[in-house]
Amino acid sequence: MALYGDRGNAIALQAVGARCGLDVQVHALEAGEEWALDFDLLILGGGQDFDQSKVTADLLGRAAFLKSFLIRGGIFLGICGGYQLLGASFRTQEGLEIPCLGLCKFITVGSSAKRLVGNLAFRAELGGEILDFYGFENHSGRTDLQGHSALGKVTRGHGNNGLDQSEGVYESYGAGLLVGTYAHGFLPRNPLFTKHLLEQIVGASLPFRLSPFEQASLADSRRG
Ligand code: GLN
Repeated sequence: MALYGDRGNAIALQAVGARCGLDVQVHALEAGEEWALDFDLLILGGGQDFDQSKVTADLLGRAAFLKSFLIRGGIFLGICGGYQLLGASFRTQEGLEIPCLGLCKFITVGSSAKRLVGNLAFRAELGGEILDFYGFENHSGRTDLQGHSALGKVTRGHGNNGLDQSEGVYESYGAGLLVGTYAHGFLPRNPLFTKHLLEQIVGASLPFRLSPFEQASLADSRRG
């Protein structure tokens, strides 16, 4: 589950972490293997409907572990297909019910009407500041948050469903945090959110400043 180079989210955590003096270790977790690691943050990337149907049995077998991971203060970041699997259900556009982890009540229904594809921009409050975030979305699924808190408000593109201007999910879970987004390229393109996640883990503010390249890249994204 790493469609669209979603491994880049882990690389972004390492890169921003290194600039803050943190040694961020990354481990690929494989289906069918013992996840005998004490990790702080878990990333589940995107995947085609078929990929999602193939991993769901293994994931559901880990539901109790994942719930205790979150209750103890872990962070679970789901990207697109990985985000969908955090919820209560995902029915594909062909009508296949893909069992989900049920860590949140939101539901997703695939539609053959039109894939929601393109550059995605959304606005969110982070640490008392209103910030704009960017990525690329490509999904058939329409997610209804069922009352959960959105990660942000869409300013360009479709987001959760192309209707209610919500994008993603951002919910506490025990002492932990559930973050979902349809934005592929999320942490690589949004270093301030990467810093935010690292600060949640270390429990302190980090000495991080955007580089001139990052500032120019965000200005470029802002122009669309
Ligand atoms: N298969 C899911 C959908 O089409 C997620 C796609 C993805 O991860 N890019 O909605």
